Amino acid sequence: MDKDINLILKSDLSMSRGNLDKKSTININSQRHEEFININSHLYEELQREAEEKHFTMKDYVEIILDRHSKRNQMINRIWPELQIAGVDESIILVVNVIDKKFFNVRLHDKYLFCEQDKSTGCNHTAFVWMQAEDLDFRW
Ligand SMILES: [Zn+2]
Repeated sequence: MDKDINLILKSDLSMSRGNLDKKSTININSQRHEEFININSHLYEELQREAEEKHFTMKDYVEIILDRHSKRNQMINRIWPELQIAGVDESIILVVNVIDKKFFNVRLHDKYLFCEQDKSTGCNHTAFVWMQAEDLDFRW
């Protein structure tokens, strides 16, 4: 991650309406932009617990997560530049090959993904979806 980006993390507890008002803020500050991101306290505490478990400071851990996310997306774009997710419908992820203009239904089963067009659990389309599973709102 660029050295000109600072992350400031804080967890505030507003006393006015009890714990429901508990807000955590991530302030991402580069030389050109400043962004404040509010995350819920549950997520903040979960990240803090993970950071402690891995012996990182919270700031380092959030930087690592952002960096990892960016590298993963670059890798997906390099490996499968022709594939995109066109839609998600409960248990079916619609993958489109924008070059061939072909669609693939990747169905979510209990413990595996199945591409209905290739009749496969191991084709490019299932791998493409697996790589992004954490971004999709699957109901496991
Ligand atoms: Zn497939």
